[in-house]
Amino acid sequence: MAVIKDPLRGLARPAPTASDAQIAAALAARPTGDWAVLTGAGMSTDSGIPDYRGPGAPPRSPMTGQTFRSGQAARSRYWARSFLGWPRIRAAQPNAAHRALARLSPHGTITQNVDGLHETAGSDPVIDLHGRLDRVICLQCGELFSRDWLQGELDALNPGFRAGLSISPEEIETAPDGDVALEETAGFAVPPCPVCGGILKPDVVFFGESVPAERAEAATCLAAGAHGLVVLGSSLAVLSGLRFVRSAAREGRPVVIVTDGPTRGDALAAHRSTSRVADFLAAWEAAVAP
Ligand SMILES: [Zn+2]
Repeated sequence: MAVIKDPLRGLARPAPTASDAQIAAALAARPTGDWAVLTGAGMSTDSGIPDYRGPGAPPRSPMTGQTFRSGQAARSRYWARSFLGWPRIRAAQPNAAHRALARLSPHGTITQNVDGLHETAGSDPVIDLHGRLDRVICLQCGELFSRDWLQGELDALNPGFRAGLSISPEEIETAPDGDVALEETAGFAVPPCPVCGGILKPDVVFFGESVPAERAEAATCLAAGAHGLVVLGSSLAVLSGLRFVRSAAREGRPVVIVTDGPTRGDALAAHRSTSRVADFLAAWEAAVAP
C-alpha cells in the first residue's frame, strides 16, 4: 500500500464569497442546462459512503494500480476487503443532493465517485470519470462483469471466511473505494476471468492510474460544451478533476465551487460556498423555481 502525499496540506478553508442564495441567483441567471457539474466524495457522504478527504477524515493509504498488479497477495488483500465492504456500498442509496441535482438537470454531470448514485437518482448524462465499483474488468481481454456476479464467486470460493474473522465485518471501517481495514486476508481465493483466465480488477481508476483516454475526452467535451462549471463536494485533490477547473478558468468560463474545506481550485473560482452540497442544491432549486 502506497502512502499518498496529501496535496491539500497547508491549504486554508476559504471564506464563502457570498451567501448560498446570492450564488444560486448567479447560477439561476442562466438556464440550468448551461452548467456542467463535477462531483466528488462530498456528494455521497450522506449516503453512508465516507469522504476520506473531508474535514476530520483520517489519513489513508489507498490501493494503487501498481500495488494491485504487483502480485496475488495484494489482489487477495484487496478482494477480501472488498468482499466485506461491497454489501454496504451496494446498499447505498442516492441522498437529497443526488436527487436535487437530477431534478435540476444540468448540461451534464462528471463524477469522480464510483458508486453509481447519480445514475440511480436519474441524472443524465453522467460520466463516471473514475469508473464504477459495480463492474469488474479483465486486465487481459477487457471483458466486463458485474460485481454482484463476482461476489457470488468469492463467496463460493471462500467458505467460512466471514465467520472466521476475529472482528465482525460491521466493525470494520469501510473506505470510499469499498476497501476495508483488515489484515486477515492471506489465502483469500479470487477467480480468474472466466473468458480468458486473466486477472480481474474492479473497473475503477486506482491512484496512480490514468482515466481511460476515450472517457477523459468525453468528459472534456461535456465540460467544454457548457457555459460554466459547478464543482460539488470535491477537494480537487486529484488532477483528473482539477483539470476541468483549470481549463474552464483558462477559457473564461465561470467556476463555482461548493465544498466544505479547502480545494486546489479555490483561487480559480468565481463563486465559493462552504455549505453542505445538499443545502446548496436546495438554494439553487429555490432560485430556479418559477
Ligand atoms: Zn479475460
